[in-house]
Amino acid sequence: MSEADVLLRVNDLQVHFPVHKGAVFRKQVATVKAVDGVSFQLKRGETLGLVGESGCGKSTTGLAILRMLEPSGGRIEFEGKDITHFDKSSLRPLRRRMQMVYQDPFGSLNPRMKVRDIIGEPLEVHGLANDRKAFDQRIAQLMRTVGLLPDMADRFPHEFSGGQRQRIGIARALALEPALIICDEPVSALDVSIQAQVVNVFVELQQRLGMAYLFIAHDLAVVRHVSDRIAVMYLGRIVEIAARDEIYRRPLHPYTQALLAAVPVADPVVEATRKRIPVSGEVPSAMNPPSGCRFHTRCPLAMDRCRHEDPALRDLGAGRAVACHLHDMAAQ
Ligand code: SF4
Repeated sequence: MSEADVLLRVNDLQVHFPVHKGAVFRKQVATVKAVDGVSFQLKRGETLGLVGESGCGKSTTGLAILRMLEPSGGRIEFEGKDITHFDKSSLRPLRRRMQMVYQDPFGSLNPRMKVRDIIGEPLEVHGLANDRKAFDQRIAQLMRTVGLLPDMADRFPHEFSGGQRQRIGIARALALEPALIICDEPVSALDVSIQAQVVNVFVELQQRLGMAYLFIAHDLAVVRHVSDRIAVMYLGRIVEIAARDEIYRRPLHPYTQALLAAVPVADPVVEATRKRIPVSGEVPSAMNPPSGCRFHTRCPLAMDRCRHEDPALRDLGAGRAVACHLHDMAAQ
């Protein structure tokens, strides 16, 4: 990836939350390491799928990149600038370039606002709505872009279906022509029957408008169609990152293999013969992660070494990296 191609570079990102006890003295008793050393790059116009069980730090990573959460450590570069410690006024122009589409199309839209005002709010906030005629034309254009009829602009969110509401959220995110959209589980609250439609909206818009996506999801089935590369997260860390087809064809990390085992395969012969990696138990607490490899308490392939030695995310070449002792040799 050449320097000019890089839109976003995240290096050793950490987001830690203090846990306090006591109503008066509020003594810090622990730290939740929600994101604990995440690194990746995103090219202009590319989609990186960020996958893992709930609580693994995916959404926190997205919010920290948008600087809606304060990073505890590491560095975030966007369009060549170190934005890790940007103050409020420096963040303002940045907000035009990075947007978010939220998981809940029901809760994320103000029920008392008309669709026109919901989609147009970012234009108002950035002082781009002074010419009323141009504003209305832009709203109509944005609605058409996401497959909504412009004459629905005076309706309220409750008059739309879940899939339509998510399209409203996407139109709002597009209003400022961002270079990056962070999509935080944008289809998981939708009916399975309309998830594919909304994923297709994302794919078509990217082909037309060329923005990059960080597409967060909890299962590998959802990100398959939309992603160029996929990063798998477990307990605040990336454990595997690779090109999309490589991840599905030859997952290397036992956790990726387990996530993939949960994804149905259309071919009944492949489905009947493929290897299943069982993973038992719950995700451990990020307040007290296991020693050594964080996955060792659930990994069916764990060795003695895994209990006390933390595997680094090793570059295996061709854009693939894995954090597992089973692949240490391949990296050397
Ligand atoms: Fe499993 Fe050990 Fe690899 Fe961790 S390092 S994923 S415990 S084999």
